[in-house]
Amino acid sequence: MDKNANLKNFKMDLKKFDRNITLRLFILLGLCLIISYIYERSSFKSNTIDLALILYLVLSVIYSIIATIRGKKNICIKYNLKCPQCGKVPKAFFAVSAMRSGKCPGCGDRFGT
Ligand SMILES: [Zn+2]
Repeated sequence: MDKNANLKNFKMDLKKFDRNITLRLFILLGLCLIISYIYERSSFKSNTIDLALILYLVLSVIYSIIATIRGKKNICIKYNLKCPQCGKVPKAFFAVSAMRSGKCPGCGDRFGT
């Protein structure tokens, strides 16, 4: 495949993924906001629900971080960015430059194409 086209597709996939995960986080946080709003206005108060809402918020953020790392790793694997030498997949931050140079940021070996 043409290298530039491949790089373009790769960047587009990463961008699409970013948009997707941001949207998901917004939905999760929006839901939390709606629930807290309803809860605040109701006369019903419970420490358990307070705690659950905080937990929900924390878990939403943790989920988004894990989903981002896993998702980007999967995109790298899809584009053959797994080093045959050391078996590492470049971190999201290095993925585009690794794709451009065709070299593993870990050991400097070339990716198999
Ligand atoms: Zn390597």
